[in-house]
Amino acid sequence: MTIDFSKLAVPGVQQLSPYQPGKPIDELAREFGLNPADIIKLASNENPLGPSKKALAAIDSELADLTRYPDGNGFELKSALSEKLGVSTKQITLGNGSSDILEFIVKCFVSQGDEVVVSQHAFAIYGLVTRMQGGNVVQVPAKNWGHDLEAMAQAVNEKTKIVFVTNPNNPTGTWSTKAQLTSFLDAVPENIIVLLDEAYFEYVDKADYPNGVELLSTYPNLVVARTFSKAYGLASLRVGYGVSSEQLADLMNRVRPPFNVDSLALAAAVACIKDEAYVRQSKELNDQGMLQLEAGFDQLNVNWIPSVGNFICFEVPGRAMEIYQGLLSRGVIVRPVANYEMPNHLRVSIGTQQENQRFLLELKGLLADL
Ligand SMILES: *Cc1c(COP(=O)(O)O)cnc(C)c1O
Repeated sequence: MTIDFSKLAVPGVQQLSPYQPGKPIDELAREFGLNPADIIKLASNENPLGPSKKALAAIDSELADLTRYPDGNGFELKSALSEKLGVSTKQITLGNGSSDILEFIVKCFVSQGDEVVVSQHAFAIYGLVTRMQGGNVVQVPAKNWGHDLEAMAQAVNEKTKIVFVTNPNNPTGTWSTKAQLTSFLDAVPENIIVLLDEAYFEYVDKADYPNGVELLSTYPNLVVARTFSKAYGLASLRVGYGVSSEQLADLMNRVRPPFNVDSLALAAAVACIKDEAYVRQSKELNDQGMLQLEAGFDQLNVNWIPSVGNFICFEVPGRAMEIYQGLLSRGVIVRPVANYEMPNHLRVSIGTQQENQRFLLELKGLLADL
């Protein structure tokens, strides 16, 4: 090969490294010669409940029309969301997962040399899409593993285009109160976009946890991103949405690829919005699982970071990769977070009662072996 195409790629892409997803069950089965049925995956914050029956039925009734393009404007899903959230359909942008929304907002506002402010230990996609556009990522040190919103507001300068706030944050599970968030929004100049990522919104029931959608009328520079991948249990279908002012939604729709959400995803998402019992059940299972894991860690004398998401980070000082590998060999997939500047932690997603128990048992065995 005589041409080095990597030198011809745009500068943002040259220095990019791909997102590292959790290891799929089938891949581990192949690597370790394990039976897929004996493997549990607690690595990608997926819903352990299995999909909503109503979503499955909605998908079934869509199948006969697979030869057709989906509704590129997502009329029914936008209508259902509009009704549920009390916003106009013109304020909604649909994404192939909410990751799409994060990318659209960066595409709209960031070009070479612009700055984007993120917190230390924040979700990796923000940095990825920013660098792709040639933007520079300004990372603000975390405070007790969470966002230091005051310092983030202070990091804003004339080059800043977007500030990303994750509430709660993944992978730390930390969250900001309504008072903290509104002081931050008050401090950020109105010409700078604030992307509030609420991927785990449905799991949180703290009294002073803010609802981003309710803040939109006060802060026209706010974009709220939510997803059907977590509490709604549709990670594989890739569907999420942004809620913002009509003008910001119009801009995002200009960079949105046509037909970015397929017909099965659209139908399933509409069905899920109406299946409130499913979301309630997901949350209950998560609450119980969180208590189970917290108690289990305490019994093993393992430190953990309090989380309001469907996952929790635990500390295994100096041994995170060894424990990760050990768990893999025993058929349990969790997530290393060294690439989030957390080399002593691992993140485990909350599973079913049995999955959590199995994870704790294998962890106990590994810790006893060391
Ligand atoms: C899971 C997650 C998302 C959503 O991912 P999609 O599947 O693309 O909707 C967004 N932000 C954070 C912080 C997440 O953890």
